[in-house]
Amino acid sequence: MVIIIKIDNKERVKKIKEIFDSIYQAHCTLDYKQPYELLIATQLAAQCTDDRVNIIMQNLSKKYKTLEAYASADLNEFMRDIYSAGFYKNKARNIIAASKKIITDFGGEVPDNMDDLLTLPGVGRKTANLILGDVYGKPAIVVDTHAGRLSRRIGLTKHDDPYRVELDLKKIIPPKDQSLFSHQLVWHGRKYCKSRRPECEICPIAKLCEKRI
Ligand code: SF4
Repeated sequence: MVIIIKIDNKERVKKIKEIFDSIYQAHCTLDYKQPYELLIATQLAAQCTDDRVNIIMQNLSKKYKTLEAYASADLNEFMRDIYSAGFYKNKARNIIAASKKIITDFGGEVPDNMDDLLTLPGVGRKTANLILGDVYGKPAIVVDTHAGRLSRRIGLTKHDDPYRVELDLKKIIPPKDQSLFSHQLVWHGRKYCKSRRPECEICPIAKLCEKRI
């Protein structure tokens, strides 16, 4: 039987992060060279694995070498290019429209603030936070399906709504750690705290987790 350590959430997160730091070299698993490529990859990643998105992006980067190339892509052709990502019609429309808007409204630079990022077609808080944290090094909490599930199971939030989860995590994670901790949650979710069969018996943070499963 695992004994759970009772401490406040800020202290708990600190201890969990120390363990994560020692076992994971966590980072975003989407490949990109340019900020706009991360934006596009994140849009493709909805309901699709990062591995598949990386393959698609590899092919796209050979064909569309600039943001302008994405902005002027033929919609039907681009749909075929990204077909294997699923939901390809909406994704293609949004990616082309977002590329156009970055050029016309933001001088060709992916915005570095939440308000402007959220004006881009297909961009929600998850994508915006990923850009802010990974591209611009700003405090940002990315709540994807893994991060949300883990935050609830560990006992860091009671909410299902990703925005409420983000707000709860913001209160207990120091700004400088927010982006990395988000990635660490994802890595831990993939390795131990899987959706259907969490491996609590061998989980390195079991003593710090409320196991709300
Ligand atoms: S695997 Fe179990 S102990 Fe580990 S984080 Fe998930 S619910 Fe908590």
